[in-house]
Amino acid sequence: MRIVLIGPPGAGKGTQCQRLVDLLKVPHLSTGEMLRAEVRGRTPAGIEASSYMDQGQLVPDQIIVGMVSRRLQAPDCRTGCLLDGFPRTLIQAETLDDLLERRAMSVDGVIELAVPRDELVRRMLARKREDDDPEVFSKRIASFEVQTAPLLDYYTGQGKLASIDGLGTADEIFERVRAAVKRFERAAWTR
Ligand code: AMP
Repeated sequence: MRIVLIGPPGAGKGTQCQRLVDLLKVPHLSTGEMLRAEVRGRTPAGIEASSYMDQGQLVPDQIIVGMVSRRLQAPDCRTGCLLDGFPRTLIQAETLDDLLERRAMSVDGVIELAVPRDELVRRMLARKREDDDPEVFSKRIASFEVQTAPLLDYYTGQGKLASIDGLGTADEIFERVRAAVKRFERAAWTR
């Protein structure tokens, strides 16, 4: 299964991704994690990316697409993967479709973790992580709403979107995630 998880910052994607990779036994491809590793390693890509990340802006596509494309070619991704944080723009989604199509693969399903903006802000204030500068956080939410939310229509058009209520306990939310994966499996069999 090749699944994409989409959600605004603070929606609880990390927790659900961990559970989902355990369930599906596929690698977890988080572009945020990959970028943070590049930043820690002070690579040229990491140095360029950090100036965008520090401001809550999206990193340019040429950095992201190359990184994801290389990762998708690794042998452990042959049977599937969980994409977290990518795609984040319509162009990235189209690029992903092209990359997979060239290898006779496709995205099987997309899960949206839907959480209202007020709740995201409330969670951020309660959590107060050091990377949760309120100004940067609002920019990341705005970037989600402007650049990433259009992806939901794109995947609805492909009949691949499962929109899930992201409110509740981690267990309750995971039950909804699991039900969506079952639907993707059934749809894959009938394709
Ligand atoms: P995340 O951990 O997924 O929230 O990502 C942290 C930061 O990395 C984001 O705020 C962006 O600056 C950058 N980033 C991660 N994934 C992407 C992507 N697909 N496209 C552009 N920038 C990204």
